[in-house]
Amino acid sequence: MENEFLKGRKILIVEDDLSSRLYLNKILEKAGVIILNAGDGQEAVNVVLNNPDIDIILMDIQLPVLDGYSALSKIREANKDIIVIAQTAYGLLGDKEKIINSGFDDYVIKPILSQNLIEKLVTNLKR
Ligand SMILES: [Mg+2]
Repeated sequence: MENEFLKGRKILIVEDDLSSRLYLNKILEKAGVIILNAGDGQEAVNVVLNNPDIDIILMDIQLPVLDGYSALSKIREANKDIIVIAQTAYGLLGDKEKIINSGFDDYVIKPILSQNLIEKLVTNLKR
């Protein structure tokens, strides 16, 4: 369902697992989001450098080339204000503190449910 608050926003999905990426694309497409994709941390950095108008990055933590933490720190060198939400696997409880201490704005736990994701994005945009 199209979301009035998310419609026309630009969101970068960083995810190396193809089926997870397609799943997230489907949810955000329905909401009316303009979607960019990256399959590893370095690609994410490059996409951000080329697209300074991204509203939110949805960043997987376990990624090839550069992991989510390293990609975030490079992205922060270029853009301190962009909202970056980590995607973390269920059960990795120790990750939560590390994620917030590393400068992510928020996190979502996999498997990601459509309604939770939409709410999380809207909440962070309204902050
Ligand atoms: Mg991954």
